[in-house]
Amino acid sequence: MDSFDPRLIAVRSAHFIGGQYREGPAGMDVSRPSDGQVYAELPVADAALVDEAVSTAWQAFKTSDWATRPPRERARVMRRWADLIEADGAVLGPLEAVGSTRPHKDVLGWDIPYVAEGIRFFAELADKHGGEVAATQTDRLGMQIAEPYGVIAAIAPWNFPLSMASWKVAPALAAGNAVVLKPSELTPFSSLRFAELALQAGIPAGIFNVVQGDGRVTGDALCRHPRVAKVTFTGSTVTGSSIMSTCALVGPKPVTLELGGKSPQLVFADVPDLAKTARTVALAITGNAGQVCVSGSRLIIERSIMAPFVEHLQGYFNALKPGPTWSPDATLAPIISRLQATRIDGIVQRARQAGAEVLSGGGLFDGLGGAYYQPTLLAGVDNHNPAVCEEIFGPVLTLQAFDNEEQALQLAAHDTYGLAAGVHTADLNRALRLIRQLEVGTVWVNRYGRSNDYILPTGGYKRSGIGKDLGREAFEANLRFKSVLIDIG
Ligand code: NAD
Repeated sequence: MDSFDPRLIAVRSAHFIGGQYREGPAGMDVSRPSDGQVYAELPVADAALVDEAVSTAWQAFKTSDWATRPPRERARVMRRWADLIEADGAVLGPLEAVGSTRPHKDVLGWDIPYVAEGIRFFAELADKHGGEVAATQTDRLGMQIAEPYGVIAAIAPWNFPLSMASWKVAPALAAGNAVVLKPSELTPFSSLRFAELALQAGIPAGIFNVVQGDGRVTGDALCRHPRVAKVTFTGSTVTGSSIMSTCALVGPKPVTLELGGKSPQLVFADVPDLAKTARTVALAITGNAGQVCVSGSRLIIERSIMAPFVEHLQGYFNALKPGPTWSPDATLAPIISRLQATRIDGIVQRARQAGAEVLSGGGLFDGLGGAYYQPTLLAGVDNHNPAVCEEIFGPVLTLQAFDNEEQALQLAAHDTYGLAAGVHTADLNRALRLIRQLEVGTVWVNRYGRSNDYILPTGGYKRSGIGKDLGREAFEANLRFKSVLIDIG
């Protein structure tokens, strides 16, 4: 079933600590992005409740055998968890879609299977790593052994609530840690079901906990807690900097930061199929209504093909149909909140004042209940225009033209961000040259977006992040290494 009635979706307004739901006094309203209606109240964990959650996680880490059981056994439990998630579409699907920007059909067809498969990927690594034997004197044995940190705090954003949480939680658990997850206060509820299914699969109570609340109170208390050995965060660059400085002050303790982006899509005149490339470019900025860290938000195109390319783009933009996440016909997702839509529009208006010309869109759709932003194309922008400098996190694409490869690279370089880039060209030599010169954490050639495997890590250069999610790197980031030296008698 692609559709559901949002009024019938019951959410449990709670935390999940020590394997149990914990109701709490309501702290804030939570709204459905699709129609702007308040549908639940959210408890906000204060420092005392965060302390209880972290202490529970620490106790579970010390007293359960999660970290010490044979890794293949840990992997077996995690695979069972993945199976439960995959079979839970009827509950998890509406729960994820009702309060987020993720269309229900995509949650069922993409998010849930992707999360389940990601858990399996990290489960498989549980028994496929080891330490190292060091080259030292022959009468000694020097080794490095890998150990979990203990309690890891995971702080997640709202744009893909389940999959962003799973990127953090799955490698941390597979490596034997206990986790306290704080989902975004805008999309808090699917994480509870995620944790409940972990318990059902056999992950010991207290190993995976969820605390609800905002960043200022709950997130901050989590970062400050002395028993939190590491913080893994996905969100904006501003928040990432703040978390890093908190962790430096109270620790220092290590952080993994997956932050914002302003990714270019470079299109050369030799692309064999203009319509197909335009479709890829359009999807890369309108998927999830541009609320994707790696959204390809800057089109940098060879001048000779600009006019026909823009025509194709406008065709794709105009065909998109905004609508609620529970509508099977909608093809453009809502913006997460009215506030965020106003922020998007504010940047577009400042861009216009700075000289941008609006070729498509440029405002909100009227009369749809929730906030829906028109797919927008802005020309006449230089690298100082606000729409080029700032992460908009909405369906807004800037357009800049180049006449040669050197100009393309100059336009692609961004002062702040270095998350991803797309290169579209039939010339493999050119693609290989550009791959080396683009200062970003990921380059896609003749495609835009990750494939559904997990082996390639993701992470940013510059202010787009520190450390990696996905891949072996994400698993290893949840381990610390102990050096051991033994005298041989
Ligand atoms: P955000 O930074 O506003 O919030 C993210 C999380 O941090 C939320 O759970 C929030 O409650 C918490 N938080 C806020 N202040 C905090 C504080 N002082 N201490 C501790 N926790 C705090 O980000 P958002 O609006 O939820 O998400 C959008 C941003 O996330 C965009 O910038 C996007 O690019 C980025 N993002 C990056 C990636 C990536 O892989 N690089 C993936 C998805 C999203």
